Amino acid sequence: MHRPALSVVIPCYNEEATLPLLHARVSAAAFAAVGADHEIVLVNDGSRDDSWAVMQALATADCHVVAINLSRNHGHQLALTAGLDLCSGQQILIIDADLQDPPELLTEMRAVMARDGADVVYAVRRQRAGETWFKKATAAAFYRVLDRVTDTPIPLDTGDFRLMTRRALDALLALPEQARFIRGMVAWVGFRQVPFPYDRAERHAGETHYPLAKMIRLALDAVTGFSTAPLRWASHLSVILAGCSLLLLFYIGFGYFSGGRVQGWTSTMLVVVVLSAIQMFVLGMIGEYLGRLYIEAKRRPLYLVADIAGVAHGRATLGF
Ligand code: UDP
Ligand code: MG
Repeated sequence: MHRPALSVVIPCYNEEATLPLLHARVSAAAFAAVGADHEIVLVNDGSRDDSWAVMQALATADCHVVAINLSRNHGHQLALTAGLDLCSGQQILIIDADLQDPPELLTEMRAVMARDGADVVYAVRRQRAGETWFKKATAAAFYRVLDRVTDTPIPLDTGDFRLMTRRALDALLALPEQARFIRGMVAWVGFRQVPFPYDRAERHAGETHYPLAKMIRLALDAVTGFSTAPLRWASHLSVILAGCSLLLLFYIGFGYFSGGRVQGWTSTMLVVVVLSAIQMFVLGMIGEYLGRLYIEAKRRPLYLVADIAGVAHGRATLGF
């Protein structure tokens, strides 16, 4: 099997407006970096616009393009996994379809990889143009909380935009989990990983496909996928609460023996409400882990491929 020097993997959801320019820029960057020995893997993640038709046309016109059509929308991280499974390059560049991550940085990233002997060069966002303060603030808070909670050091302010070697990718693809937080999984894999600071551009066209609900889901996948600390919080909490109840016991005992009447209602209600809120929170947290355990236990394929246009060498799971 021929392994091209470079594979560029791009998950796409409703990106018909960007695809032609994306292809032109990625293609130019790939030619500049490695010449003709490259492939561009486009994954159509169940787009509702004409992205698939555009991809098929690109695959027909350019023999470097491989287009994969997933059976439905599987989500960004799984679409990316499909592309990574199917690509066959010796170096792999992961990039978003919306041109927020400039493909022209490829040459520099390869230079850094060669200079430092790295297996992963991950792009770190110095600035993000055209994103709302809310998105920036929540993203910043998320990465910092994640860093505190998880046992694997996951780099701050990093997306999936990165260059990897084949051995790092093969290690990543050996991780079977359904709930995939790929930037964290790459960090877990290890080898030599170096940051590459860059300024994130605005979306070329369309809207973000990561509304708040999806961001929260990704955040939960990240925390539960890389840490069991929240489960331990329950036991820490119980120690604190045991201390509090001891104090309360003294207080009540003191009131009883000194003959004072205990005026119960407000404080009782307060304790009941606070304790049940804490209990629900802890139960919910256990539920998050349990639900994921259930989903993992089913061992379903991560995604299904409906069609492939162009020549692919990798091992994507085909649909039926
Ligand atoms: N994407 C995808 N499936 C989805 C949502 C998004 O393949 O269900 C792709 C999308 O086309 C883009 C990348 O994932 O290439 C990142 O999405 P987006 O730009 O909307 O996220 P943001 O940059 O706003 O975090
Ligand atoms: Mg984007």
